[in-house]
Amino acid sequence: MNPASEAMPVSIFETMSLAAAEHHAVNLGQGFPDFGWPEPLLAEAARLTREASNQYPPSRGLPALREAVCQFYNQRQGLTFNPSEIVVTSGATEAIAATLFACLDTGDEAVIVAPAYDAYAPLIRRAGGRVAEVALRPPDWRLAREALEAAVTARTRVLVLNNPHNPTGRVLGAEELAAVVAMARAHDLLILADEVWEEVLPPGARFTSLAALAPERVIKVGSAGKIFSLTGWKIGWLAAPQAIADVIARAHQYLTFATPPNLQAAVAVGLGHPEWLAPPREGFARARKRLAAGLEAAGYVLLPSEGTYFQCVDLGASGIALSDMAFAELAVREGGVAVIPLSPFYEGEAERGLVRLCFAKRDATIDAGVAAMARAR
Ligand code: GLN
Repeated sequence: MNPASEAMPVSIFETMSLAAAEHHAVNLGQGFPDFGWPEPLLAEAARLTREASNQYPPSRGLPALREAVCQFYNQRQGLTFNPSEIVVTSGATEAIAATLFACLDTGDEAVIVAPAYDAYAPLIRRAGGRVAEVALRPPDWRLAREALEAAVTARTRVLVLNNPHNPTGRVLGAEELAAVVAMARAHDLLILADEVWEEVLPPGARFTSLAALAPERVIKVGSAGKIFSLTGWKIGWLAAPQAIADVIARAHQYLTFATPPNLQAAVAVGLGHPEWLAPPREGFARARKRLAAGLEAAGYVLLPSEGTYFQCVDLGASGIALSDMAFAELAVREGGVAVIPLSPFYEGEAERGLVRLCFAKRDATIDAGVAAMARAR
């Protein structure tokens, strides 16, 4: 096989969404909401598509959006970025790719925390790096400094940390964040802080960014798709000390160069309306309760979910002996519901029998998904 194919397997999100379409199944797999976006933002995007420029914007992003990102993070998280520290990208995944391409040399190591979002390891490897994996354990998924230390060598350059964490729904506590920062400072590591779920939290929850704790070494990645429930827009960004942002901006030039200006302009407007974010938060919290109650009534045992719009199910504890992959295949084919098995999120041996469901869905979608999960067991 072509070595590139092996290093870059087909993403489980693509696999499960295609299977959902093929089997006309309810798609609770790939994470995307079927409600919760601000309607006025769609009107703004339509207006701006007509009234603003549709030619290449500056590679680092529209000044208005870079300014709006700074303001938003100042108000929501007390951060003090300035626009020269922001690079707009075509989705958060591009921000992650650009950061890894810019910061890793051949043979450098990057630490990831498993279960880890499926883009990290392939991108690290194609950037010439080596992957070191630290595995969290259910049900608490706690991150311990000793485990991180054990993964670090003299070649480690970057720690990739996703918080709130996909797929577990874990939100790291203050002690864990402090341990991450102390460890990164002791070994002079960059922290690629994938914080795309920063606004997908229960109503009233406050988020602490690693950028507040270690501003000198954090590359903070954000996503308009997650903030506004518009995952197809693919508007993301990173915020980092200017010297680091400058290097990453060069990698971005050779990936996508720039990102659609109409949508950038619309996102800049949206970031000025944080009041648009409260109703979806409440809607997702209600949807989570509805999904959890339905699954429990069907005999499923759930793991805790503190953030993101994902809920994990423990198949073994639910009395199902199948592997996560076998269950996912059966559920989509026979039950009529797509879920995400967790084993593709591990480099080494995976936790057994865990699957993830997306609950950012209308009542009818949740109810159809629950009925299908009941059929799948
Ligand atoms: N972030 C989304 C999820 O976790 C998937 C994004 C994608 O399909 N690439 O489901």
